[in-house]
Amino acid sequence: MVLGELGKKLSTALSKMNSSQVLDNKVFNEMIGEIVTALLQADVNVQLVKKVRDDIKKKVNLEKIPSGVNRRKLIHQVVFDELVALVNPRKKAPKIPEQKSKTGEIKYKPYVIMFVGLQGSGKTTTCAKLAHHYKNKKKKVCLVCADTFRAGAYEQLKQNALKAGVPFYGSYTEQNPVKAAREGVKHFKKQKMEVIIVDTSGRHKQEEGLFEEMQEISEAVNPKNVIFVMDGTIGQSAFDQAKAFQERVTVGSVILTKLDAKGTKGGGAISAVAATGSPIIFYGTGEHLYDLEPFNAKSFISRLLG
Ligand code: GDP
Repeated sequence: MVLGELGKKLSTALSKMNSSQVLDNKVFNEMIGEIVTALLQADVNVQLVKKVRDDIKKKVNLEKIPSGVNRRKLIHQVVFDELVALVNPRKKAPKIPEQKSKTGEIKYKPYVIMFVGLQGSGKTTTCAKLAHHYKNKKKKVCLVCADTFRAGAYEQLKQNALKAGVPFYGSYTEQNPVKAAREGVKHFKKQKMEVIIVDTSGRHKQEEGLFEEMQEISEAVNPKNVIFVMDGTIGQSAFDQAKAFQERVTVGSVILTKLDAKGTKGGGAISAVAATGSPIIFYGTGEHLYDLEPFNAKSFISRLLG
C-alpha cells in the first residue's frame, strides 16, 4: 500500500515523543502539531483534523495521568484509537443474508448492490472484482450494466464478467439506464441469483444529471447496499464528492481504488468515510480481478504507522 508519506510522518511524530528525555506539555503539543500537519498534508478534511487534535487533547492530561502508568504508551494508544476512529464509522456495512432459514429451508433473498462513483474511479473494474470475490465464496453472483452513458462500458463489463466467470446482463442499444438496471435485476431475480451487482455510469465531475440518474436507478432496483467507489488518489475533493453522492442515494459502504498507485495520500479515504458515515469494506490494489483486499481499520492504521 502506498500511503508511505502519511505513515512515515505519523510514526516519526510518535517516535520523537517516545525518545524525548522528558515528556512534558511542550513535547506532547509538538507531537500533536506534527500529527495535524501530517494529516493535513495528506489531504484529510480540516474539520476532521481539528477533531482529532481536540479529542487527543481531551483524552490526555499529562498532569492527571497516575504515576505507574506508562505515559508514552498511553498517548500512543490514544493516537492509535483516534486514527482508527477516523476510518471506522459506527455504522456497519450491510451483509448478504443467508438463503437458508434456521430450519434449513431455502428462502430466496436477492441482494442487490448498486455501484456509484465518478467516471474513472474504477467502478466497472471493482464491480467485476467484487463479483469474483463473491463467486469464490460460492455465491450465485451476476453483473448488470446500467452504464448507457460511456461508449464501451457495456463491452468492458462484459469482458470483465467473462474473466470473472459470472453471468452478465446488458445491451448495446438500450439508452435508458433506469430501464437497463430494472430489466437486468428482474432478469436475474427470475434466475434466483443471490447477489446482483449493478454497475452505473459516472461523469467526469459531479453533475446534477448524474445524481438524478443515480436516484432514479436506486428507486428502480431498491438496492440493499449502495457502494460508493472512490479513487484513492484524490485529495481534498473526496469529502465533497462523497457527500454529494450520500445526499442523493444512501451509501452503505465505500470501496477505495488505486491504493497501489503512486501519489495515493490516504487523506481522501479518511474524508470519504467521514462524509458518508459508511465503512470502507474493500480497497483495490491493482487492475486485476484478484487485486481487492478486505479493509480492516485497525490493521490499516497499524500498517500505516509501520
Ligand atoms: P469507471 O469509469 O469508474 O468504471 O472506471 P474503470 O473501472 O474503467 O477504471 C478506470 C481505470 O482505473 C482503468 O484503467 C482501471 O484498470 C484502473 N483501476 C481500477 N481500479 C484500480 C486499482 O485498484 N489500481 C490501479 N492501479 N488501477 C485501477
